[in-house]
Amino acid sequence: MARFIFITGGVVSSLGKGLASAALGSLLQARGFSVRLRKLDPYLNVDPGTMSPFEHGEVFVTDDGAETDLDLGHYERFTGVAARNTDSVSSGRIYSTVLEKERRGDYLGKTIQVIPHVTNEIKDFISIGEDEVDFMLCEIGGTVGDIEALPFFEAIRQFSQDKPRGQCIFMHLTLLPYLAASGELKTKPTQHSVKELRSIGISPDVLVCRSEHPIPEKEREKIGLFCNVRKEAVIAAYDLKSIYEAPLAYHAQGLDQAVLDAFNISPAPKPDLSVWEDVADRIHNTDGEVNIAIVGKYVQLEDAYKSIKEAVTHGGMANRVKVNVKWVDAETFDSKDAAPSLAGFHAILVPGGFGERGTEGKIKAAQFAREKKIPYLGICLGMQMAVIEAARNVAGLTAAGSEEFDHEAGKKRFEPVVYHLKEWVQGNHTVRRKAGDDKGGTMRLGAYDAILTEGSRAAQAYGATAIEERHRHRYEVDTKYRDQLEKFGLMFSGMSPDGRLPEIVEWKDHPWFVGVQFHPELKSKPFAPHPLFADFVRAAMENSRLV
Ligand code: GLN
Repeated sequence: MARFIFITGGVVSSLGKGLASAALGSLLQARGFSVRLRKLDPYLNVDPGTMSPFEHGEVFVTDDGAETDLDLGHYERFTGVAARNTDSVSSGRIYSTVLEKERRGDYLGKTIQVIPHVTNEIKDFISIGEDEVDFMLCEIGGTVGDIEALPFFEAIRQFSQDKPRGQCIFMHLTLLPYLAASGELKTKPTQHSVKELRSIGISPDVLVCRSEHPIPEKEREKIGLFCNVRKEAVIAAYDLKSIYEAPLAYHAQGLDQAVLDAFNISPAPKPDLSVWEDVADRIHNTDGEVNIAIVGKYVQLEDAYKSIKEAVTHGGMANRVKVNVKWVDAETFDSKDAAPSLAGFHAILVPGGFGERGTEGKIKAAQFAREKKIPYLGICLGMQMAVIEAARNVAGLTAAGSEEFDHEAGKKRFEPVVYHLKEWVQGNHTVRRKAGDDKGGTMRLGAYDAILTEGSRAAQAYGATAIEERHRHRYEVDTKYRDQLEKFGLMFSGMSPDGRLPEIVEWKDHPWFVGVQFHPELKSKPFAPHPLFADFVRAAMENSRLV
């Protein structure tokens, strides 16, 4: 049966709880244990699928088609364990399950209350698949003291009481602010945060303290004393150059040892950190750099493209080259020449997105990359825009567009090369959608197979002709236009196994121009860079030698 580690945060939000959880997961793996990581989010949305990327950052999609919090991306990137839809839950999902059960009459006339009905639902969620792994790490979103997080804190408190002694521990992350005027690190906010936690019955076993300055031994002792935590379990978390240094840095500070001590696991198995040493080596020992433009819409918030940024970095690591990413707002050249904004980059990436804003800019970016022979990777919307560009500017379909934003009604000669997909095959059943369906959870979501054309750029990059990648989209390139586009050199080099859905397109006479309908970035890891990103960065490097 699994041991449980509950991870909470205090003092301020955005402390890097997700990263600390992921790094701890990887350290436990390095010691030979199996792990699974979970995220419990207090907000009332049923899932992040309908939340704006500007507000909540990227939506991370799992193989089994769940739209989840971006922290699940960290979990996968650090542990390599594929997340499932049972690894992410929100208050909204918990409440909607409780209310469904109430309507069905499952509670047999009882009054429904936060304790025990909501807390029981949370506890049931936490224990799903508990027999499968050695450690289950559950991160609670938000900050201790948040009103909406209270049922989660209460549930994990109860959970630790329900289990035999020693099977659950609590890890709390806080911040030690630095007062420049007095040159001191202040421990009081941490003390208050722990006090808050203890007032709801949770006593942390491990404290992780974020700090911009070294924490003197004396301060660690003080924190331990006032927070009722062993001195060795007060772990310093300093800012890092790269997030991928986190496993080694946390190990050096004794995090994994403190966790194993809290569970009384002795002697602790020795860790094998060679994977992370190699990752660190690839970050620090690079030869050359490339400049890549990411032309998107949500560029003000980098978290909106979290996995893309990471996958590009992994591509750099695969080639031992430093990748400089510049975020370019596609909207700025929606109705202007794109060249001044895009000149000088060694490669261009157009990521996924929703809605019309910035799409003309993205089409221009695809055109610029095609004409100037600059490596181009188009992801989901970035592929759709590349196809529209090819249709309009090469194949002579000047009215080409997407049903997502060019509405037939207003246009006489509209060519919907990208159309609203209403029926497709998943495994051995057919999925159907209608135009007015609910927005949440109704896209083509999760892992689907694709068959690649032998000898194509894509097949070369993958080193395979059968692949499986994750999807999240409502619209699709129409095969009706395939022959016409292929005649002009745009190859449909990846298709769904039934041959109905284009998965990859690429320009034949171009150094590297690939559009993919899926999201390869979601499966890239620092220790296993995604083949498309590795090859894209390689092409960028080659291009950098030419200019
Ligand atoms: N908006 C497009 C669609 O729904 C692309 C989605 C995406 O880029 N993830 O098909």
